[in-house]
Amino acid sequence: MTRIAGVAVSEAAFHFDKLYSYKIPPALADRVLVGGMVLVPFGKGSRPRMGVVLQVSEGEETPRLKELFDAAPEEACLTPDLLELVRFLKERTFCTYYEAVRAIIPYGAQYRPARAEGRPVLEKGLSRYTEAEYHLTGELPEKPRPTEKQKKAVELLAPGPLRLRQLEQNGISRAVIEGLCKKGVVSRLQVDKAPDLYGNIPFTGESIQLTAGQQAAYEELAPCLRDGQAHSALLYGVTGSGKTLVFLKLIEETLRLGRTALVLVPEISLTPQMIRRLKMTFGSRVAVQHSALNNTERLLQWQMIQKGGADIVVGTRSAVFAPLQNLGLIVMDEEQEHTYHSESAPRYSAHQVAARRAADNGALLLFASATPSLERFWAAKQGRCRLVRLTERYSGRPLPSVELVDMRAELAAGNGGEVSLALADQLKQTLAAGKQAILLLNRRGYRTVAQCADCGKSLKCPSCSVPMVYHKAQGRLMCHYCGQILQPPPEKCPECGGLLRYTGYGTQRIEEELARLFPQARILRMDQDTTTHKNAHEEMLARFARHEYDLMLGTQMVAKGLDFEDVTLVGVLGVDAMLNSQSFRAYENAFSLITQVVGRGGRADSPGHALIQTSDPSHPVLALAARQDYDAFFEQEIGFRRLGLYPPFCTLCLAGFSGAQEAQVLGAASRFGQLLAEEAGRGGQIPLRVLGPAPMNVAMVNGLYRYKLTIKCRGDKPFRDLMRRVMTRYSEEGLPVRASVTLDMNSDGDM
Ligand code: ADP
Ligand code: ZN
Repeated sequence: MTRIAGVAVSEAAFHFDKLYSYKIPPALADRVLVGGMVLVPFGKGSRPRMGVVLQVSEGEETPRLKELFDAAPEEACLTPDLLELVRFLKERTFCTYYEAVRAIIPYGAQYRPARAEGRPVLEKGLSRYTEAEYHLTGELPEKPRPTEKQKKAVELLAPGPLRLRQLEQNGISRAVIEGLCKKGVVSRLQVDKAPDLYGNIPFTGESIQLTAGQQAAYEELAPCLRDGQAHSALLYGVTGSGKTLVFLKLIEETLRLGRTALVLVPEISLTPQMIRRLKMTFGSRVAVQHSALNNTERLLQWQMIQKGGADIVVGTRSAVFAPLQNLGLIVMDEEQEHTYHSESAPRYSAHQVAARRAADNGALLLFASATPSLERFWAAKQGRCRLVRLTERYSGRPLPSVELVDMRAELAAGNGGEVSLALADQLKQTLAAGKQAILLLNRRGYRTVAQCADCGKSLKCPSCSVPMVYHKAQGRLMCHYCGQILQPPPEKCPECGGLLRYTGYGTQRIEEELARLFPQARILRMDQDTTTHKNAHEEMLARFARHEYDLMLGTQMVAKGLDFEDVTLVGVLGVDAMLNSQSFRAYENAFSLITQVVGRGGRADSPGHALIQTSDPSHPVLALAARQDYDAFFEQEIGFRRLGLYPPFCTLCLAGFSGAQEAQVLGAASRFGQLLAEEAGRGGQIPLRVLGPAPMNVAMVNGLYRYKLTIKCRGDKPFRDLMRRVMTRYSEEGLPVRASVTLDMNSDGDM
């Protein structure tokens, strides 16, 4: 008998993703643990591959059994509950084990293959960062007379040790503190760099005073924290109703009960504000997880959570895997946002993982929004999720009034610009009153498309079937799918030699127009192109909040959750494109985005006003958005969904196929459809509707053709078992060579 590890290896294809057995060499006996990372020989050439141990057992030694190469130390090990999530992700999203592991432990915690003395070994991907921490160890001698700085340093250190950075923030230089070390008054320790990333946010410990409405909402929810059972609830509150205050109070109660809390926000741009509020209320036991942290920061934060050093974790989608123990509360703010769905393997949605964790921990899962997803509101109406409403804005402030501006009338009146006269006029008044405005345009770049005046064709990316976008600042055309660049932008149509005209508009173009209209105004543009550097979101928003800018123009990142006192005017540009997008969620998304951005206005004493520019002012969705009437919108939209059989009345599963030869991709997709029909017809009753194959909305990306099968189903276990059989047969027939297949079990209708 020998000890054998069952290992899931990296880069496994779907139907080869099973446990492979390896002998554990005696030297590694203590290190090989369930949940640990290992390096194993794989395949004919016994090439080293990363893997994760999912099982350790006693078994017979056979001649073919290989010995594993190396194992990472215990601290890089997945805890049992995280291992459960690995299995959960594989079961639900059709990813491989290793893809699930990679999603769950941040990159920095992982090891990578290397060689040492000619042998394959694991090497840590990151070195540790340390910094100096100073402790008071003696008294200041009377002579020579201590300087003011020295006295201050001793005073600062009296309550407890501080790091150099903290001393410097209080005016104590390294020279002063090192001088005290020499005298033996202070001693220095090298410690792991502080995981407290936002240590400069003051802890005020102010008590939370809820309004009567907020208190009522809190009291409806608080019992769900106390009975140790899993619950889900929707906090449906208009913009500015103070949902955050209700979270804070619930978190306070969760901590009082000795449990931990997880707060998810849909975008990195929303984390600074949430962190600030949490830190001010709860102090330092708040950790952060999101993709804009560098690997070291991410790892340090992760380890702090894993060691039990944090009671509250804030972050974006992937924070749902934070290794918190004894979770009592999970908040998903702006739960309708599509950013909660992962768009690469594992294609999970944070909702499903959060629900699973809430069930495992007996926690309250609280969804919050002013415009919940149709699915969530439907579940609440059906009684499957508790519904709690906040109907009024804080201190009775009115919602902004909304006006639709008819852009056809503008054009007829001779204004061909992208900013209507009405909007320009309101902007002028806002600026004159010393207030601020937010303008939303969900499209970056300068001009969207280059179109030939002769043949009418638009200039497309050579590798993707989408128009190239003109970016003026860099003087080039760029493909937003594959990043390909054309520089300088061509003047002639490549097809017929006709003149190219640049039409359509993006944020850069509007910025220029605003600057021309209001030369005095300070304009801030926020989009993917201006927020690439670290902390860009945070800095820009802080500067706007300090009123260092008058106008903020941006993509959807300016629309949500932000709270600025001086904003009285909101403008929405380019809604027509949103309403006409191909997704079955087009109306839901447009309604939500408009309501969100309109809700940014009038949050303090001055009332807010919003303008929506459109070529279709009679559009029913716009009328509802103008009235900010979500309930009416829901009633109308749920009717469409029922008629068309869309979620929540079914689950939309998408099978995506991509490959270099169009005919082969189409053939493979059709074959997948046949296999699906065969397997579904066998035995049990699995209700299904299959549409396609059809080209995806973007039919080619990076030179690969893309097709999809749309499967309307129940999305339950029998369906997943069916899909697993189909995927296995697809692999066995060798079809992945023609077209790789990707399944998305929570699809919005495209990939
Ligand atoms: P929502 O997330 O529902 O849009 P917020 O939680 O951002 O709303 O609250 C809107 C504004 O009202 C914030 O500036 C917040 O500080 C303020 N506010 C809400 N409730 C209270 C309260 N009970 N006490 C003090 N300020 C509040
Ligand atoms: Zn491209």
